[in-house]
Amino acid sequence: MVQKEFKAESRRLLEMMVNSIYSQKEIFLRELISNASDAIDKMYYKALTDDSMTFNADDFYIRVQADKASRTLTVEDTGIGMTEEELEKNLGTIAESGSLAFKKEHDAEDGHDIIGQFGVGFYSAFMAADKVTVLTRSAFSDQAYKWESNGTDGYTMEPAEKEKPGTTITLHIKEDQEEESYSDFLEEQQLRSIIKKYSDFIRYPILMLTETE
Ligand code: ADP
Ligand code: MG
Repeated sequence: MVQKEFKAESRRLLEMMVNSIYSQKEIFLRELISNASDAIDKMYYKALTDDSMTFNADDFYIRVQADKASRTLTVEDTGIGMTEEELEKNLGTIAESGSLAFKKEHDAEDGHDIIGQFGVGFYSAFMAADKVTVLTRSAFSDQAYKWESNGTDGYTMEPAEKEKPGTTITLHIKEDQEEESYSDFLEEQQLRSIIKKYSDFIRYPILMLTETE
């Protein structure tokens, strides 16, 4: 297992997310679903253009699942996934993403009102989670990788097992604070309404697995 530090720019953006008092923390779900959708777009295109692949529309979906007992929320996609290099580059160096442009442009401003209007990206997961685990396997590789971070001390990466290509992101949802409740993000009805509000336009099915009591 390799322990790494975030690049300086990433760390600043990350700290902004970890310490966010922004009221619409729920937009992290929009960000994760939009990333999942982008990844499925890439897989869809590959399937259309690669004759060696069989094509089945049912294979393309996003699944959101909450588990109250373990306080986890999982967003799974059947997208293109990431290789070890991509995982490192994309989630360790957010300079590669649209998020940094957002940060640069608005560094001087009070971030709280504008977060909702921009794609703040993957790190927004840390507005609701104190630990994030990414299990991913690229469509171009048999080897899966696990990336994990608690937000501040950097991240770890290690080889892992995953049966099919795609990405599963598991958020360990923060404990409720005096002023801030996070448990809503584990309630199916709440999740449905957040998804309806922000991700109604996503063109792949968003499945929800109901918890078995
Ligand atoms: P942006 O979406 O603006 O590029 P993000 O911070 O949301 O920025 O994501 C950073 C990068 O991480 C993405 O560009 C993509 O390459 C990669 N990524 C994030 N989520 C996924 C996913 N579910 N599947 C594959 N790649 C992903
Ligand atoms: Mg994104």
